[in-house]
Amino acid sequence: MKPANTLLSSYGTTVFEVMSRLAIEHQAINLGQGFPDDRGADSVLDAASKALYDPPNQYPPMMGVPELRQAVAAHNKRFYDLDVTWQAETMVSTGATEGLAACFFGLIEPGDEVVLIEPLYDCYLPIIRRAGGIPRPVRVTPPHWELDLDQLASAFSERTKLVVLNNPQNPASKVFTRDELQAIADLVIKYDAYAVCDEVYEHLVFDDRTHIPLMTFPGMRERCVRIGSAGKTFSLTGWKVGYLTAPDHLLAPISKAHQFLVFTTAPNLQRAVAFGLTQDDSYFNSLRDDMKARRDRLSAGLTTIGFDPAVCQGTYFLFVDASRFLRPGEDDELFCRRLVLEAGVAAVPVSAFYGDKGTAPKSFIRFCFAKRDAVLDGAVERLESYLKSAA
Ligand code: PMP
Ligand code: GLN
Repeated sequence: MKPANTLLSSYGTTVFEVMSRLAIEHQAINLGQGFPDDRGADSVLDAASKALYDPPNQYPPMMGVPELRQAVAAHNKRFYDLDVTWQAETMVSTGATEGLAACFFGLIEPGDEVVLIEPLYDCYLPIIRRAGGIPRPVRVTPPHWELDLDQLASAFSERTKLVVLNNPQNPASKVFTRDELQAIADLVIKYDAYAVCDEVYEHLVFDDRTHIPLMTFPGMRERCVRIGSAGKTFSLTGWKVGYLTAPDHLLAPISKAHQFLVFTTAPNLQRAVAFGLTQDDSYFNSLRDDMKARRDRLSAGLTTIGFDPAVCQGTYFLFVDASRFLRPGEDDELFCRRLVLEAGVAAVPVSAFYGDKGTAPKSFIRFCFAKRDAVLDGAVERLESYLKSAA
């Protein structure tokens, strides 16, 4: 029999699916895959159910329903003072994931180089490679995840087509500083490149930090694609509604890929997300403040057990150095398997976020804290009693 596509076949099943499956099989508390365990805001759910009974439920326009595209443009103005023409510069995607794929297929020519910051979200590399791109990863290193600007500069060349920037960054929970963003913008301009900005956690930025889209930097409006997700902003990850903002000359080729990938996204969900984006500030503030309280709760719990979680600057993930609990020869992946099977708590190994697992850090694991208090407390209790007895 002839082989299937060898590049994609070389990848295993994503770590999120693997860990969630194990969590179900072993009745573990799932702090692995990133999803909130509350049901989402009633107002947004109501808007979706009303829209379901308010036809049409047929194919919406391929760029998205006008009310959501208008809401995306208004959201850009309201939070970042970006002037966006909704008809030419916004597009709805089936989750940020499809939006990213449409960017990679729409912008990359075989042989183009793509600069990435590692650790990185797991869908980037396979799709970039499948589109013919050549990844040029630059690492930020735990526990501080500082970006080495010299290394970054040396990853760029005349062959660089684009840089992928995930800010706030999963799994490092890093929020890039203004200086780091300026350095990235300078390189993008110097090498006449583009930036695909995965900003799905834009409303999950904590303490005195603010989210600054790269698109707001001088010269970047014409070079950036900015991607958001209703999954993160409304705690509705199963809806898979994403939204892109980009200048016309980038969005046009991206939409060519989108039209052949999915063409469109469920219309009632789009209309509900349009409502969601126009909610007043109290919605966005309480999303952030609730998540911050959960961050602090899990962080305190993990600290009492003897983990030393770094401060999560943004996203809903905490990563910890598990070195002191690793058995001889055990890495982060084996440790996560042991935890889910024996402690009844699922986490995700951070090495899964690296292209070259051989040289990835092997002692860090990631917990998702977007869970109810009782669930977070239950996880800490299970970990505590297991790690004490297994010591
Ligand atoms: N980018 C990052 C950094 C993510 O963590 C996720 C996970 N949800 C996605 C993209 C995908 O978002 P969506 O579910 O909207 O496809
Ligand atoms: N973004 C989520 C995470 O990092 C997972 C999304 C998925 O399962 N594909 O956990």
